[in-house]
This record gives sequence, structure tokens and C-alpha cells, in this order.
Amino acid sequence: MTLIEKVQAVLNKVSLAEGQSTSKKNKPTTVVGVTKYVDAQKARELVLAGITDIGENRVELFLDKYEQLAELSVNWHLIGTLQRRKVKDVINLVDYFHALDSVKLAQEIDKRADHTIKCFLQVNISGEASKHGVLPDALAQVLPEFSRFTNIEIVGLMTMMPLGATEAELADFFEQAKTLQETIASQKLPNIPCTELSMGMSQDYQQAIKHGATFVRIGSEFFK
Ligand SMILES: *Cc1c(COP(=O)(O)O)cnc(C)c1O
Repeated sequence: MTLIEKVQAVLNKVSLAEGQSTSKKNKPTTVVGVTKYVDAQKARELVLAGITDIGENRVELFLDKYEQLAELSVNWHLIGTLQRRKVKDVINLVDYFHALDSVKLAQEIDKRADHTIKCFLQVNISGEASKHGVLPDALAQVLPEFSRFTNIEIVGLMTMMPLGATEAELADFFEQAKTLQETIASQKLPNIPCTELSMGMSQDYQQAIKHGATFVRIGSEFFK
């Protein structure tokens, strides 16, 4: 398949899954094309094929693509862990940061931001020690702290699924994430609308969309 055919296939699967979504307030899905496996030329081909939301997980790769694709109209997503000392290099360039996982990081972002930064709060749904993110049990305690940062808008939750999870486990984790997101949204905390859900990658994005994902992050399916 050519890249253009792959894009078409993914978009078809996305709209099929949207049709089967159990969440009533059905929003269109944003497909974030993850370009960490490829160079800027390949990333440009993806944009030209119609994927205008681009995600990178590392600051250096993000900055490289950002500079090389400057002439294109792209929504830029930083999807991976961000070290506090690198915040100033990148945060004002991103349209969405998906991996906000501590109050300390929020503090640094709030300080360096020259406008409101849209962030997803990363939640460690599975509780695996190796995963980043706030544990669900800790949310009630930390949300008021995140709410204080006026340069940060928490647009939603982001979560990563454990490797090797069964279909049933995935369904359960996706559903838990959806419930958490809706619960937080209903609290109407300042700076925390939390209307979005960033979950689902190449292996499981259709299932994620069925459970209410509004942003999916897809790399391998485009490039492997
Ligand atoms: C690499 C990566 C993805 C994309 O994963 P694929 O399985 O290649 O689709 C999504 N999210 C994050 C945070 C990643 O680092």
C-alpha cells in the first residue's frame, strides 16, 4: 500500500469505529499521525496525504519536524514525557501537549508559557509501575492544584494501554478512562474542561474510539 492508501484505510476504520461508538456525545476523532519512526520528508508526505495533526514523543524530534515542515499548516502534538528543563525549548510551539503527569511539570509550563497551553493530563489507568501518569486514586487530590494554573487548559485525559493486554482488559481500561474523563468534566473546575480523551494507538485505536476516544495517536500503521 502507498502512504495515501494507508491514510485512506485508517480514516475508513476510524469512521467505522465512530459509528459503533457507545458514547452518545459523539465527537469527530482527531487522528494524530505519529512520525517518530520517520524523517521530515516522510512526515511531509503524511501531511500532504491529509493527516494535518502530527505527533512526536521526544523534544529533539519534535523540533526537527517543526522546523522542517514550517511551511505546512500543521497542528503540532507533543505526546511523550517532557523533562522540566526542556519545557522552555518547546512548550510555546505545541498545539497540544499529551503527557502532563505532575504538578511540578505544570508549574514549569505555567511559568514558561506565553499563551494558554492545551494539555492532556496523563492518567495511569492500569497502575503499572513502569507507566507515567497520575494514578486514578490521586486525581481528586491533585486536580485542584492543576486548576490553579491559568496558562494551562486541561482539555482532557490521556492514557497508554499496557502491552499485551487482552481485548477484555483493554475494554475495561478504556471504559475506566472514559468514566474518569466524564466525571472530571462534570466538576467544571477552572481551567479543566476535560472534554477530550487521547487514547488508542495502531494496535487498538478502533476499540478506543468505540469507548469514546476523541484523539488517537497512530504511528506504525502509517509507517510500518
Ligand atoms: C509511538 C507512540 C504512539 C504511536 O504508537 P504506534 O503503535 O506506532 O501507533 C502513540 N503514543 C505515544 C505516546 C507514542 O510514543
